[in-house]
Amino acid sequence: LLYNQVQDLKGTIRVYCRVRPFLSGPPDMQSTVDYIGENGDIMIVNPRKQGKDARKIFTFNKVFGTKVTQQQIYVDTQPLVRTVLDGFNVCIFAYGQTGSGKTYTMSGPDLTTEETWGVNYRALRDLFSTTKARHDMIDKQFGFSCLTLTFHTLEIRNNSQLNGLNVPDASLIPVTCTQDVLDLMRIGQKNRAVGATALNERSSRSHSILTVHVRGRELVSGSTLKGCLHLVDLAGSERVDKSEAVGERLKEAQHINKSLSALGDVISALAQKSSHIPYRNSKLTQVLQDSLGGQAKTLMFVHINPEADAFGETVSTLKFAERVA
Ligand code: ADP
Ligand code: MG
Repeated sequence: LLYNQVQDLKGTIRVYCRVRPFLSGPPDMQSTVDYIGENGDIMIVNPRKQGKDARKIFTFNKVFGTKVTQQQIYVDTQPLVRTVLDGFNVCIFAYGQTGSGKTYTMSGPDLTTEETWGVNYRALRDLFSTTKARHDMIDKQFGFSCLTLTFHTLEIRNNSQLNGLNVPDASLIPVTCTQDVLDLMRIGQKNRAVGATALNERSSRSHSILTVHVRGRELVSGSTLKGCLHLVDLAGSERVDKSEAVGERLKEAQHINKSLSALGDVISALAQKSSHIPYRNSKLTQVLQDSLGGQAKTLMFVHINPEADAFGETVSTLKFAERVA
């Protein structure tokens, strides 16, 4: 590992911020992101204010601007992913309001072009290829599952169930290569029997968790290792206007906000090395309990939509991120 990668692995919680480009509109549209520094600074500017008060700086482990490619994002994610093969548990989260680029970062816009693959597929490919290349006399086996956490249910796709995740009757689907995983994910998508729009709509209101378990056995000594990677595309973090949402929809929105703040509470308690970690306040943190805390490593990607209308959400996203950093 390079020196800066080793530096990068110190500590157990890191926060990266990614700013998505403008999707349409005139090229001179004003961005709420004023400045991105090399050292993890991001300065935002309130489009409706003037002067010094209009600007605020936040600092994270890294900030990625609009021109950063999927490949470059993965370069800074890879060292963490590879620790799974040494028996660490790793959680990678995508946080942000709907439309800010969470799914773009985790999955990418288009499965069929590898260049645009997100962290999920790159990580899986990396785990398999690193294992092959290592010749470390450890026999490794991989298991995979996807699950969706919604307001009402914990839905486990692909007929697989989870192991070690506080989910009863667990079993994982064994996988041996990236293609196996891609196939499973396609089956999972099909089984959900919803169109692309509906899927989008639903994904903004549920947490999607892909999990890869690695089990290794040292061929000579027989000793074993276990590692686990969770790739989590979180529900949209936007506040829902109480005047617009009623009934079930309002309850659902409140539930999402509650589970995201419960996640924030857990991560910030871990960052502060607090003696009580409030895992039990949401299903999300219960499911991930074994992989948050202890020796586990967490990476939170927070996403920014730089449009003026999104300024309020951008501020709350950055505040959330600052709290867990
Ligand atoms: P979310 O999952 O947070 O709701 P998406 O990932 O679906 O948001 O992104 C919203 C739109 O913005 C999509 O059309 C996506 O392709 C595009 N997008 C997001 N991030 C980027 C990026 N870094 N570069 C180019 N397009 C992006
Ligand atoms: Mg999404």
